Amino acid sequence: MQQRSVVVVGAGITGLWQALTLARRGHRIRLVEQSTAPFADAASRLAGAMLAPFCEAEAAEPVVRDLGLQSLALWRGTFPGVTARGTLVVAGTRDRAELVRFARMTEGFDKLDAEQLDVLEPGLGGRFAAALYYPDEAHMAPTEAMSFLLDAARSAGVKVSFGTRWGGESQAADIVIDCRGLAARGELAGLRGVRGERVVVRTREVELTRPVRLLHPRHPLYVVPWPDGLFMIGATVIESEDSSSVTVRSALDLLSMAYALHPAFGEAEIIELGAGVRPAFADNVPKIVVRGRHIHVNGLYRHGFLMAPALAALVADYLDKGTADARVFLFE
Ligand SMILES: Cc1cc2nc3c(=O)[nH]c(=O)nc-3n(C[C@H](O)[C@H](O)[C@H](O)COP(=O)(O)OP(=O)(O)OC[C@H]3O[C@@H](n4cnc5c(N)ncnc54)[C@H](O)[C@@H]3O)c2cc1C
Repeated sequence: MQQRSVVVVGAGITGLWQALTLARRGHRIRLVEQSTAPFADAASRLAGAMLAPFCEAEAAEPVVRDLGLQSLALWRGTFPGVTARGTLVVAGTRDRAELVRFARMTEGFDKLDAEQLDVLEPGLGGRFAAALYYPDEAHMAPTEAMSFLLDAARSAGVKVSFGTRWGGESQAADIVIDCRGLAARGELAGLRGVRGERVVVRTREVELTRPVRLLHPRHPLYVVPWPDGLFMIGATVIESEDSSSVTVRSALDLLSMAYALHPAFGEAEIIELGAGVRPAFADNVPKIVVRGRHIHVNGLYRHGFLMAPALAALVADYLDKGTADARVFLFE
């Protein structure tokens, strides 16, 4: 294998995985990030960091599930902070049809009745008559995971430069891997932003051990338990590149659905309201766009944590062996 000198641009979840994977394969890597503080400008910072290949298949192309499953294995082999307790999907009594529809669109679940649900997740307090349980899914705390990857990349020999805005130069590298997210939209036809808003709350009154998705025809919601009594309540999906603060309407929708999931969220402390913009192509499937020595990895949409490890492995295989998975590679 030929050792290459590679510049990876952007230290979001995509760039971190690229840098780490290529360094571990023996390449010489420089990771360049414009923000001075790690992750400050990355959409990745806002993620719930669920690894949910089966649940996401409800609305995503099969490649998202397939590469997502590969990523799950890569995460588990790399980051000890992955919590692998699956996902629960529930619906209120009036929305039972949503649960039937969700089951029809997905696989990899067990159907639970009220009693089984109570045993598995007592914190839901007997509030739902039925649930779908996806045992093979996982989640993590996003900034903890990104900090881990950054440290691991440095230990693998990656030279990291924060506060360095890349302006198109190759810095004498053999290859540039461009993971700038939405900032690359001028160069990638069809790349758009999809706004996502979330609320982080803290309460000791709710005990959940895995992400729970509450289905609803207009306002589906998920709650992800993080350490120290924190819960991430998310997320809106709005066709807009506006990254300004969370609107009152979205905050009301998110918080009232969380209250519907468990009334004890009514007493929770609001820690943070945040909005980010997900980079996405028209089909919401990520792409590896090869233009000679410049390779874009972008469009990870709702699936940055879910897809980044597998995409990094694909780029490394392309550089080392010349293989290219037609589902995600484009040559221009
Ligand atoms: C509310 C919300 C919830 C989400 N939940 C999940 C989830 O549960 N699971 C999941 O898998 N995904 C989730 N996502 C999606 C995930 O966050 C995105 O897919 C992911 O952030 C995309 O990562 P990225 O590294 O491609 O882009 P980014 O994270 O935006 O990183 C791009 C980086 O490039 C840097 N950059 C830009 N221009 C330059 C330049 N010229 N020079 C140097 N650096 C530059 C930026 O500063 C930034 O740090 C969620 C997203 C949102 C908004």
